[in-house]
Amino acid sequence: MRAMLLRSQGESLVMADIPPAEPGTGELRLRVHACAVCRTDLHIVDGELTEPELPLVLGHQIVGTVEQAGEGVTSARVGDRVGVPWLGWTDGECRYCRSGRENLCDRARFTGYDRDGGYAELATADARFCFPIPDGYSDLQAAPLLCAGLIGFRSLRMTGDAERVGIYGFGSSAHIITQVARFQGRSVFAFTRPGDAETQRFALDLGAEWAGGSADVPPEELDAAIILAPVGELVPIALRALAKGGVVVCGGIHMSDIPAFPYDILWGERSIRSVANMTRQDGLDFLEIAPKVPVRTYVEPFALDQANEALDSVRKGSVRGSAVVVVKEARSA
Ligand SMILES: [Zn+2]
Ligand SMILES: [Zn+2]
Repeated sequence: MRAMLLRSQGESLVMADIPPAEPGTGELRLRVHACAVCRTDLHIVDGELTEPELPLVLGHQIVGTVEQAGEGVTSARVGDRVGVPWLGWTDGECRYCRSGRENLCDRARFTGYDRDGGYAELATADARFCFPIPDGYSDLQAAPLLCAGLIGFRSLRMTGDAERVGIYGFGSSAHIITQVARFQGRSVFAFTRPGDAETQRFALDLGAEWAGGSADVPPEELDAAIILAPVGELVPIALRALAKGGVVVCGGIHMSDIPAFPYDILWGERSIRSVANMTRQDGLDFLEIAPKVPVRTYVEPFALDQANEALDSVRKGSVRGSAVVVVKEARSA
């Protein structure tokens, strides 16, 4: 199969012809249609996540159809369209797994990091961690739901019943959860790179109440702030924008160091927390709500051999919505 391979961190991906993995017990082999790009892919390429299984096929927002089902699979059949998320496997027996927190599993394996992902013509995945894709979505438009949507949804949940939600970093995830937050009756305040009028306009078009630069002071205090940019400086900035009792939720897997800040901006029962990975229940819940909103994803397609360009566009912040590597789209809108 053709695959874009990461041979060594700090280098570009290279197109390679490699033998596809055989689906093991409980696994599916998928014909990949589309795989959306996530900022985590950049952190893997750049070496900020330090233990990838090299050489590696990146990509953990895979939409494909089942080509072969391994022994013991009962949840999916040949021809079914499924999605593969970041959480690829858990042990099911550690104290985290046994308490509904499989996202924190000590032995978890992640798609496109610990095992090969979707920047390839074929992929294998544990059937128990695959999701059915809602019918109304094309392959291309469904792909960003699988991490941008899902981790964004988990981050939004961590804000509790916050009415006024700030979102710092208005990329793939933000454009999806803005729609969910509005559907839930919340107000969204969008923070972009300073001077990025085009993205601010995009946020307003999606229903944000207000949009400005990351250093701007919003017109109202926020009940919660979700930080989706990997920039630690945003944490004290967001804290200063919070009302008492508010929470800053850091939704990314990697962030630069958070600068020291005075205790009085945390005082008043404000809190800071991270969101790590996702549970299968998050996925089921999000894929149930997405068509009801209905969430519409904005996508920029790239061919498989343009995966490096796709990564660059996310790095530069030049994509409106989500960059998606399209391998072989079978279902269009
Ligand atoms: Zn991701
Ligand atoms: Zn576990």
